[in-house]
Amino acid sequence: MANLSLRGVEKFFTNFKAVQDLNLDVEDGEFFALLGPSGCGKTTTMRMIAGLQLPSAGKIMINGRDVTDIEPARRNVAMVFQDYALYPHMTLTENVGYPLKVRGVGKAERDDRVRAIAKHLQLENFLDRRPGQLSGGQQQRAAVGRAVAYPADVFLFDEPLSNLDAQLRFEARAFLKRLQREIGMTIIYVTHDQVEAMAMADRMVVMNKGVAQQVGKPMDVYRRPANTFVARFIGSPPMNLLPATVTSLAGVPALDLGGGQVLDGSGIVGSDDVQAGQKLLLGVRPEHIEICDSPVTGKSLSGKLRLVEVLGAETLVSVEIEGTLIIVRLNSDEPGHLSDVVHVRPKADRCLLYGADGNVVSGS
Ligand code: ATP
Repeated sequence: MANLSLRGVEKFFTNFKAVQDLNLDVEDGEFFALLGPSGCGKTTTMRMIAGLQLPSAGKIMINGRDVTDIEPARRNVAMVFQDYALYPHMTLTENVGYPLKVRGVGKAERDDRVRAIAKHLQLENFLDRRPGQLSGGQQQRAAVGRAVAYPADVFLFDEPLSNLDAQLRFEARAFLKRLQREIGMTIIYVTHDQVEAMAMADRMVVMNKGVAQQVGKPMDVYRRPANTFVARFIGSPPMNLLPATVTSLAGVPALDLGGGQVLDGSGIVGSDDVQAGQKLLLGVRPEHIEICDSPVTGKSLSGKLRLVEVLGAETLVSVEIEGTLIIVRLNSDEPGHLSDVVHVRPKADRCLLYGADGNVVSGS
């Protein structure tokens, strides 16, 4: 296994910048996700790491070795793509053992390795079956098995679970993570699904329009999105963002949300770093808002009840506050009777402030 570094990597297609000034350091044995919406440059980045596409600028290093201009076969990377085609005429043993066979590994050693991998992937009872005799999830595991059969420095996975239904995806996430831990693989994993990245990655980069927006551990990114793009992209439902203007309430910084609704700013991260009159967005996750029986001066906001969705494990309550719709997440047995006007109380220490440039206000 190995570490991987990208330094100032860029990719232009004529005048279009698909990837811009990308700098990443992935550690040995790390599960690292490239996360972002369609077209943000994930696959292009992956193809440059694999050597299938040359960067327009920058350097790619594996274990300190500059591989930027080295052909794919000499980089020692393995890839699993969305369309993980197995050879239909080969058994599972032959499919998984194929990368070993083409590298001249003898049959006895090959069979031993295949059996060990099949055990990891819970496929040991299907070794004689052809792909057509395997379920979708088993085929997908077999494709992963084939990719990991020959030890590579870095494993590249491009949306490998996207062909699976929800239940199989759930199972596949668990087995892939377990396998990665057991073998100690360095994995770069492309996905547009934030749940997948949150569930599996040790760290991730969130990309938008070819530009890295934030790099970090999933929960650090979730708790403190660096900008409003990340705040809206990570979390389902996403972070609520309410327009506010900085004012003061009894001499301390406060946030005016319009319509005479003012929130005490004390305790909100970044409230000491803003100026009176500054326009901001107040960010708060749906689970960090309480519904209260009556208004609390400086602590609660009032709005119109728009929708209640009981989802089983939780209830989502949509409330319109001064023209902005927010979502409150409650435990399923909590909502009880809600009147047309609802009073909501954001937890101050869980609120964040975003400036006009979209970036989080740093705070101390
Ligand atoms: P998806 O999740 O939809 O696969 P992605 O994040 O992987 O998207 P890329 O495939 O890396 O996105 O593409 C990034 C951008 O570069 C897109 O706007 C795409 O249209 C563009 N692009 C990719 N390959 C080429 C090419 N060969 N020529 C021109 N533009 C390209």
